[in-house]
Amino acid sequence: MSKDLNTFLKGFKITDIECKPGQELNLHYNSETFKYFSNGKHVHHIKYLPQLCKNENDQSGDGKLLNTFLNKDRGLARLSNYVYKKFKPENIEESISLLPSPELKDNSSNDPKIKLPISGKVTKLSTIPEVVNSEANINVKQLRLITKLSQKMNNVQMEMDKKHLRDGNYVFKYRYGKLLSEINKGSFGEIKIFGKKIEDSSDIMNSKYTYCSEGKIFYAVKEFKPKKTDISMETYKTNIISEFIIGNSFFDKCPNILNVFNLMQLPDSKFIQVMELCPCGDLYNYIQLYNKRHHRIHALEADCFLKQVLNAVGFMHIHGIAHCDIKLENILLYPQGLLKLCDFGSSSVFQTAWESGIHKQKDKLGTQPYLAPEEHKDEPYDPQLSDCWSCGVVYMTMVLGHYMWMKASLKDDMSYEKFEYEMKNSKRFHIFEGLSHYYPMRELFRKRVLYKIFNPDPNERITVIQLLNTPWINSIDCCQE
Ligand SMILES: [Zn+2]
Repeated sequence: MSKDLNTFLKGFKITDIECKPGQELNLHYNSETFKYFSNGKHVHHIKYLPQLCKNENDQSGDGKLLNTFLNKDRGLARLSNYVYKKFKPENIEESISLLPSPELKDNSSNDPKIKLPISGKVTKLSTIPEVVNSEANINVKQLRLITKLSQKMNNVQMEMDKKHLRDGNYVFKYRYGKLLSEINKGSFGEIKIFGKKIEDSSDIMNSKYTYCSEGKIFYAVKEFKPKKTDISMETYKTNIISEFIIGNSFFDKCPNILNVFNLMQLPDSKFIQVMELCPCGDLYNYIQLYNKRHHRIHALEADCFLKQVLNAVGFMHIHGIAHCDIKLENILLYPQGLLKLCDFGSSSVFQTAWESGIHKQKDKLGTQPYLAPEEHKDEPYDPQLSDCWSCGVVYMTMVLGHYMWMKASLKDDMSYEKFEYEMKNSKRFHIFEGLSHYYPMRELFRKRVLYKIFNPDPNERITVIQLLNTPWINSIDCCQE
């Protein structure tokens, strides 16, 4: 490798891009965060969250700032009063896991009273029918966990459990450490970053599933928003359990799905979810930053990202769950380009282990520019197909640097109206026709697939599983770790 190339690659993971002996390696594309080589390989170098860096101008951070916090007495010395008061870290640190303790004798019935999922949410059902779909993530094991979680949530027993468990590993601070910082997620609320030194066997085990740096392990903590007045307490708790069960059922199952560790209850009856921390933030912020410097993301980089998103969504679909809120903000990043799909708060169980068919979704779920046209109509729709449309929106937003339309509805959005008009009259859309790609063949394959994703008729649309087998997606060499 030439010296110049080595200079370019400072800070990059280069093991994957080295050539066979005698082969010359040239850099075909070079930006601060993405490089592409003549041998077809590429590398990413995505910036760390500012919270993980020494200062604003140095985003090559690797958790050093947090490490500094961790070495302080309470780890809060440098946090502003604002952050300190608002988050009351003591409360979170005292929260208790709602997961059943393996050390406690399980006296609950092995045949819990459970109800079939209603409107895609996971709840209880009265008898357990015969398993007809063994691939489904929502099975007897999940339903037993749901029952135990709701019993624990509703039970005054919790205080007793608290005493019993206080010395154990079930109180937040012993398992996940101290509050270090926050990530503002806009409408979503805030995510808090917690961390601790890797000390015991449970830290070592967890270190495979979240961000670690210099002997420290880090977690992202989501605090569930307080109950809205228009829903009952039971619905509120069902929604929290449903989100956790869906996220947790994919734990360590797919490299592109965020690991959800725990559901915990605070002393003041609020609930939190403990998750994997991705150190580079979300794809929305990445695109925004990228836009400022390079105008639009390189097609090869977008290809790599899309294939990882499709891997995650396809995996969920095979296991009976649709994400229902796929957007740039729900796709998190690691420095070397590994993506993780997160936030299962809108996710819908369309098929459990006891169902051979799927149930359709009635509610409009997700975020406006990503919604498929059928979601604006008052008819039930297949959430797998609307997920596929949203993946298409994610891709197009990456390569264009902006949304194609704000709402896929003829009467509300002129840009969308133009799209449907062009498709009806010429079966072509000028934006798809105008897109170029580094590889001419892939450009052609991609164009064909885009028309299949953005088919306004969901019955004619390609599925995510079919998409993964198209020549375009098959030809993408994507980063997994
Ligand atoms: Zn990649």
